[in-house]
Amino acid sequence: MPLSKCLIANRGEIAVRIMRACRELGIRSVAVYSDADAHAQHVLAADEAALCGAAPARASYLDGARLIALAREHGCDCVHPGYGFLSESPAFAQAVVDAGLVWVGPPPAAIRAMGVKTEARALMAEAGVPLVPGFQDDHADLRAYLTAAERIGYPVMVKAAGGGGGKGIRIVHSPEALPEALESARREAAAAFGDPRVFLEKYITRGRHIEIQVLADAHGAVIHLGERDCSAQRRHQKVVEEAPAPGIDDARRAAMGAAAVAAAHAVGYVNAGTVEFILTPDGDFYFLEMNTRLQVEHPVTELVYGVDLVRLQFAIAEGQALPLTQAEVAPHGHAFECRLYAEDAAGGFLPATGTLLRFVPPSAPGVRVDSGVASGDTIGIHYDPLLAKIIVHDRTRADALARMCAALRETVVLGTTTNRDFLLALLDHPAFAAGGVDTGWIEREQVGVLADASPDDHARRVRLLIAAAVAEAMPPVGMGRASSADASQERTLSPWARGDSFRL
Ligand code: ADP
Ligand code: ADP
Ligand code: MG
Repeated sequence: MPLSKCLIANRGEIAVRIMRACRELGIRSVAVYSDADAHAQHVLAADEAALCGAAPARASYLDGARLIALAREHGCDCVHPGYGFLSESPAFAQAVVDAGLVWVGPPPAAIRAMGVKTEARALMAEAGVPLVPGFQDDHADLRAYLTAAERIGYPVMVKAAGGGGGKGIRIVHSPEALPEALESARREAAAAFGDPRVFLEKYITRGRHIEIQVLADAHGAVIHLGERDCSAQRRHQKVVEEAPAPGIDDARRAAMGAAAVAAAHAVGYVNAGTVEFILTPDGDFYFLEMNTRLQVEHPVTELVYGVDLVRLQFAIAEGQALPLTQAEVAPHGHAFECRLYAEDAAGGFLPATGTLLRFVPPSAPGVRVDSGVASGDTIGIHYDPLLAKIIVHDRTRADALARMCAALRETVVLGTTTNRDFLLALLDHPAFAAGGVDTGWIEREQVGVLADASPDDHARRVRLLIAAAVAEAMPPVGMGRASSADASQERTLSPWARGDSFRL
């Protein structure tokens, strides 16, 4: 059944990204926005927009009943959830379906099956998908955890059963540290997910996060689109992703792909999803979790496999068969994605706020920017501080890396602290250039931390802020109106405020 009008239950770059696919498909898009987002880019990019509540997400983007009522009011026939917010809520997915709308995502039962990590582990064990050795028992006492950890072998990881976004995770090196780790992980999990349950996994030292993109149609076909390497992480959250993963050959890709496809089959999966694995230094891989939604880093797969995953999500939701077979997909070239955040990398990666005096994204061959902000926008406290994703593609990994560095250097963000310089320091690091860093690398090596804290850099930021304020106040010479949204005005920003003078 062809879809004609979609409510996008999200905000920021992913809402804008989904709207682009809608435009290409001839599907009308309806944005929802909170009081804080009345002038946001995703509102401007939509065909229609509806206020969904107050600034706190709980009162707007997480108010499922209201979102469904708005979808009906606006005559939508489908809902796309993006990532985060309600995207992995089986109750919301079911409510959408019950309202007679098409859910552009997996069946609620598949979301539910993968939603609790301990339950997903049990299902995966049955399906023959390799698991990290672990221990789970919701009624176990401390003694049982201590015994289990001894059997698994330290270091172990305490993880939240309902986890997501890197929350509720503790690495434990000794029995002495286990009681406190269990307690604090439970507290964090209860606060973040309303579910205090935790479990143990063997901590894979120097492991790499390798995940497989899967696509499944409603007719039983499941394929995979290779892997992404998301090992560059801070606080168990990704900052740079790439495809293909360095050092993964066709045989390992096929083996991990087959495990991911088996995982999808085991839960009756339909639509796009991602199976996350941890790869050991010995080359073994273990299931971590399945994200039953579009992933933040989906663009690197799109560039390397030449597909539009969001358009495919709509096609699958319409009931179409997959247009590709496994034999027809092959990676071409190399892609990187950097997550440009408003955050203080030197200050423990805490989120930053501010008004964007200037945001000038890079533009060059092989460079894609997925962004949800523009000059003049305010970065507040209510939502994820992701400003933009900068994605590059080129023939080789080295060329793509050079392209990414150049793109980041020409990116201008004035008015808030960003992790741009941290990203540049990371990409410049010889270990990253060599490929194959592990998930603990950033923290162990303190990558980029000193670079960002340099007083010189702060002085330069102040100079740039003054320059931006002056540029803002002066009408552009010989050019039309002086609106801050007028792209031509960017050209009046002096060259030193853009390129190399901004680098470390
Ligand atoms: P990805 O692998 O796609 O990066 P993440 O697990 O990092 O997935 O989550 C994607 C987005 O959703 C991020 O913006 C993250 O902050 C948010 N997110 C995911 N799960 C949760 C959660 N349980 N609570 C809060 N935010 C979450
Ligand atoms: P979340 O739902 O928060 O994304 P994950 O299970 O995906 O939780 O774990 C987040 C990150 O923590 C992984 O990407 C990986 O870097 C690390 N991690 C998780 N489990 C293990 C493990 N058993 N050994 C080593 N690292 C792990
Ligand atoms: Mg994960």
